[in-house]
Amino acid sequence: MAAIVVLGGGVCGLATALVLARDGHEVRVLERDAAPVPDSPADAWEGWRRPGVAQFHQAHFLLARSARLLDAELPDVRDALLAAGALRYDPLRHAPPTAGIEEQRPDDDRFVSVTARRSTLEQVVARAAAEEPRLQVQRGVEVDGLVTRRVDGAGLVTAVHTTTGRRVDADLVVDATGRRSPLPAWLHASGDRSPYQEATDSGFSYYTRFFRSRDGELPQVRASLQFPVGTFSLLTLPGDGGTWAVTVVTDSHDRPLKELRHEDVWTAVVGACPRQAHWLDGEPLTGVLPMSGVLDRYTRAVVDGVPVVTGLAAVADSWACTNPSLGRGISMGLMQAVCLRDALRDGVDDDPRTFAARWDDRVQEVMTPWYRATLAVDRARLAEMRALREGRVPELPQGPAALGPALGRAAVHDPELFRALLEVVGCLALPSEVFSRPGVAERVTRVAEDHPPAPAPGPDREQLLRLVAGVPVS
Ligand SMILES: Cc1cc2nc3c(=O)[nH]c(=O)nc-3n(C[C@H](O)[C@H](O)[C@H](O)COP(=O)(O)OP(=O)(O)OC[C@H]3O[C@@H](n4cnc5c(N)ncnc54)[C@H](O)[C@@H]3O)c2cc1C
Repeated sequence: MAAIVVLGGGVCGLATALVLARDGHEVRVLERDAAPVPDSPADAWEGWRRPGVAQFHQAHFLLARSARLLDAELPDVRDALLAAGALRYDPLRHAPPTAGIEEQRPDDDRFVSVTARRSTLEQVVARAAAEEPRLQVQRGVEVDGLVTRRVDGAGLVTAVHTTTGRRVDADLVVDATGRRSPLPAWLHASGDRSPYQEATDSGFSYYTRFFRSRDGELPQVRASLQFPVGTFSLLTLPGDGGTWAVTVVTDSHDRPLKELRHEDVWTAVVGACPRQAHWLDGEPLTGVLPMSGVLDRYTRAVVDGVPVVTGLAAVADSWACTNPSLGRGISMGLMQAVCLRDALRDGVDDDPRTFAARWDDRVQEVMTPWYRATLAVDRARLAEMRALREGRVPELPQGPAALGPALGRAAVHDPELFRALLEVVGCLALPSEVFSRPGVAERVTRVAEDHPPAPAPGPDREQLLRLVAGVPVS
C-alpha cells in the first residue's frame, strides 16, 4: 500500500482520497483554504469561506453517473447527502407526455440523480473524509512546488513543498488543485518537461441566482433542465432543502448580454421564457452571481509515448475541465477517482514509468473520450449562438455529428430514444456508444426527420436585446 498525498481538498480531491484510503492506502490531503468544515449544510451555504473554489456558489447538479458511483463506491456519502436534504431527481417522472414513458422498467433507476448545492455536497464529503481512518485532511496548507529527482530522463516526484517550507514525502502525489492547477508551472520550476496541454477560454458566461421554495414544493419541470433559447441557454437546477438555481448561460463575447448581471434585467429575461418563468417564484437566496473566464483545459503527462513526470497523477479538473453547463465535472472526477484506485491495485511499481504508463492508458481509454465528447457539444453550441447573434443561419452539423442534435429532437417523441438521451445527459454512456447500438442511429434519424429544428419558446434576438436594454416586451 502506498503513502499518497492529494493536493487540494475540493469535492473530487476529497472523494479521490476517500476511495484510495478505503482501498488501504495512507492518504493525506493538503488543502490551501484554512476554514474548517462547517457543522451543517446551512452553515456551509451561509459562511464557509472557500476562495479556492471560484464556483463554490455557482449552480451545480449531480448527474446520474455520480449517483451510481456513490451507490457503488461511497454509499455512506450518498446516505449522508440524502440525510442532509439532497434531492432524488428522477427525470423520467418529468418526461414530456409526447415521450410516451408509460411504464417503469426495472433498470430505470439508473437515471435517478441525488443532487444538492455545491456547498452541501462539499460539506458532506468533507465530513466523511474527516472521519475516515487512514485519511488525514490538513487545511490551511498551500503547496508551492514539487520535489523531483531524475530517473531515466523523467522527473520522479518524491515529495511536495509548502509555502511554510515544509516538505511532505509521498509514493504518489495526486494533483486535485482544480481548474487553475499550477502543475505545469511547478514542473517548469523543477526543471522537468512540460506536459501536453490544450487550454482556451470556453467562451461562456454564467449568471446564476438561487431560490428557496416558499411552500416546500419545487417548481414544476416543464422543459429539460438545460434548455437552449437562441443566443442563450437556461439551466434550472433543483437542489437540496427545497432550493434551486437558475442560470442564464451566454456567449462571453455577446456584449449586450453582460447586462444580465443586473437583477432586474436577469429577471426580465428569465421571466420572458414561458417554460422557466415560474422558477422565479421562490424566496431569492442570492442576487445575480456572474462568472466567466472558465477554461476548457486538458493535460496529458505522457508526450510522444514517454512520461514527462512519474510519481504523479492529475485528477478531475486539474486533469481536464470544460464548460460546465453539461454538469459533468464532478461525475468525471468521480469516474477518474475510481480509475486511479484501479490503476493502483497493480501497485506503484519499482519502475515508476510502469505505473505512469498504466495510468495514462486508463485515462486515455476511460476519460479522454468524455472530455472530447463534451468539448464537441460546447463548440457546436457556441458556434450556433454566434451565428444567431450575427444574424446567420447556423450551419447544421452533417454526418455522425448530426446525431447528437437529432437525438435531442427525437427523444421527446420516442420512449426508447428518451432513455438513450438520458444515458448521454446522465453521463452514463458516451454518445458514440449509444449510436453504435443496432438500429439506434437509424431510429434517431427517422424520428428527427419528422421533427425538424424549431425555435425554442422564449424571446427572439430582437426581443432579448430590448429586454437587456430595459425596454419592456409585450
Ligand atoms: C460555473 C460552474 C458550474 C459548475 N456546475 C457543475 C455541475 O452542475 N455539475 C458538476 O458535476 N460539475 C459542475 N462544475 C464543475 C465542478 O465544479 C468541478 O468539476 C469540481 O469542482 C472539480 O473538483 P476538484 O476537487 O477537482 O476541484 P475544485 O473543487 O476546484 O477544488 C480544488 C481545491 O484545490 C485547492 N488548491 C488549489 N491550489 C492549491 C495549492 N497550491 N495547495 C493546496 N490546495 C490547493 C483549492 O483551494 C480547492 O479547494 C461547475 C463548474 C463551474 C465553474
